[in-house]
Amino acid sequence: MARQTRLHEFRLIEQLRRTFGRTGPGVVRGIGDDAAVITPARGRQLVLTTDLLAEGVHFDLRTASLEDIGYKAAVANISDIAAMGARPEYALVSIALPVSYTAQHVLRLYRGMMGACRPHGVTLIGGDTSASRRGLFLSLTVTGSIPAGTALMRTGARAGDLLYVTGTLGDALAGLALLSGSRRRRAARSLTSSERQFLIIRHHRPAAQARLGQALSAHRLASAAIDLSDGLSGDLHHLCEQSRVGAEIDAASLPLSPALRAYARSSDTDPLALALQGGEDYELLFTVPQTKQRALHRVARHQGRQLTCIGMIRPPSFGVRVRETSGRVRRLPVTSYVHFRDVASERSPW
Ligand code: ADP
Ligand code: MG
Repeated sequence: MARQTRLHEFRLIEQLRRTFGRTGPGVVRGIGDDAAVITPARGRQLVLTTDLLAEGVHFDLRTASLEDIGYKAAVANISDIAAMGARPEYALVSIALPVSYTAQHVLRLYRGMMGACRPHGVTLIGGDTSASRRGLFLSLTVTGSIPAGTALMRTGARAGDLLYVTGTLGDALAGLALLSGSRRRRAARSLTSSERQFLIIRHHRPAAQARLGQALSAHRLASAAIDLSDGLSGDLHHLCEQSRVGAEIDAASLPLSPALRAYARSSDTDPLALALQGGEDYELLFTVPQTKQRALHRVARHQGRQLTCIGMIRPPSFGVRVRETSGRVRRLPVTSYVHFRDVASERSPW
C-alpha cells in the first residue's frame, strides 16, 4: 500500500520541477534557481496578470476537486491575457498549503493547472511554497506577450461599433447552481444527464479564448475587449465606463445553450437573467467597427468559433440598455445575484 508522506518542501519543489517544469526556447532558467530567466522576443510587449484564490472565499472543496480548482485558476489568468489579445506564455504559482496536505494533493492541483496551461503553450517557470494555518491559498501569475502597440484595451469602443460575444452565456452559473442549491438540485432532476454534465463542466472547466483573442488583435478587428468573469451586465458596464460610451444589447440575440434553456425551464428561472448575471463563463466580449464585420466572420469561421452580435455601442448619453423581447428598452442594471441568494454566499467571486 502506498504510504502517504507528509510534505517536504524541497522534495515537493523538485517533484513539481520534474513533473511539470519545462524549458522552452525562451526559458534560460526555469524552476530551480533564485528566479527564472526569460529571453523576451524582439518587438513584443509583456502582458502580465495575477489572481489570488482563497479557500472558502473563491472556491469550495466540497463542490470542486483540486484538479478543478487548479484548472479554473489557470483559465481565469489565461483568459485575462486572451482578453488583451496577447499570447499566454509563462506561469508562476504560489501556494500556501494546510498542514494536512500531502504531495499527492499538490500534484492534483498542479495536474489541473497544467492541464489548462498546456494547450495554450504556457510553461511553468517558478513559484513559492508556504504552509497555511487556515485553508488552501493559490496565487497564479501568467505572463504573455503581444506585438508592441496592438493590445486590446477596454478603452477603445466607439459609438456605432458592434458588440460581440463568443460561445454561450450563463452556463457556468447554472452549473454552480446545480452543485449548490438544494431547490435547484431538485429542479435538475428534470434535466437529462448530458445537459447536467454540460453545465457542470462549463462551471468547473471553462475554456479561455486565447486563439480568438490573438486573432482579434493581430488583424486589428476589435476596438475593445474584456473577458466575461463577472457576468455580461457587469463586464459590459466596465467596458462602457472605460471607453466612455453607452451600449444597447438585444435580449433576443443573447446566445443560450440548449442545456441552459432546459435548466431555466425546470428551475422556473428567467434564462435572460442567467445570461446577464452569470459569471465565470470566460467568454470574450468585444467591440468591432462595422467595416471589420466581414473579416471578423471569416476569422470566426476559420477557427470554428461561435460568435454572436448582441448589440451596438451607443453615445454615452444613451447609457447601457437592453431591448427586451417585448420591444421595450430598459436600463440594464449591474446585477448582483439577487435571484441566486442561496447560491450567492457560496459563489466564487473571481
Ligand atoms: P527562494 O527561497 O529563493 O524563494 P524556493 O526554495 O522558494 O527559493 O524556490 C526554489 C525554486 O523553486 C524557484 O525556482 C522557485 O520559483 C521554485 N518554486 C518554489 N515553489 C514553487 C511552486 N509551488 N511551484 C513552482 N515552482 C516553485
Ligand atoms: Mg520561495
